[in-house]
Amino acid sequence: MTDIAKFRKILEDRLKELDVRLHEIEDELDSHKSQDWEELAVEREEDEVLEGLGTSGQEEIAKIKAALGRIEDGEFGYCVKCGDEVPEARLEIVPFTPFCPKCA
Ligand SMILES: [Zn+2]
Repeated sequence: MTDIAKFRKILEDRLKELDVRLHEIEDELDSHKSQDWEELAVEREEDEVLEGLGTSGQEEIAKIKAALGRIEDGEFGYCVKCGDEVPEARLEIVPFTPFCPKCA
């Protein structure tokens, strides 16, 4: 039997962490308004990296929210494709995964 409460906590903590990080990224992007050409070039490169981080963070947030939704529906821990139980060892690594190892 999967320990739902444990994974709910892991998911909620991760969600908070990502939320903080995304705000930091936004602040950092907002602070990039240099008028100096050389600095501007450096900031542009940093912006691309930051935007990449922001996008992957938002994708992870969406997956975590979906997983929390499945907890509410009592479907967490079961593969959304075949309905098999997702092994806890797999959830330990990817707590928001909606798939069992076969369907992943
Ligand atoms: Zn499956």
